[in-house]
Amino acid sequence: MSTNEERSTFAGAALEAFADACGLSDEDAETKLADLLADLQHWADRNNASWSRCLARAVDHYEAEVCYKCGGEVDDFGGDGPQVCATCLTQVKTDKR
Ligand SMILES: [Zn+2]
Repeated sequence: MSTNEERSTFAGAALEAFADACGLSDEDAETKLADLLADLQHWADRNNASWSRCLARAVDHYEAEVCYKCGGEVDDFGGDGPQVCATCLTQVKTDKR
């Protein structure tokens, strides 16, 4: 299982690879991200993937990984138990992904 820092690093590597491929390396982070998201939506249109369903799943994943109270890392104790913030011990989400 990855940490949120590792997840961010993986996404950053993908974003920079996209920016390099598109000649956007000198643009700011929000421009790169917005262009990647728009192009991913074009990709979804052409590859039988539901953009709205994938966005909803992405939000579910993020909300299961980040504490809504303090922004801390959420532990799921192996996946079957409650998901609890490692920082403030708030139970964040009980739905299984
Ligand atoms: Zn917390």
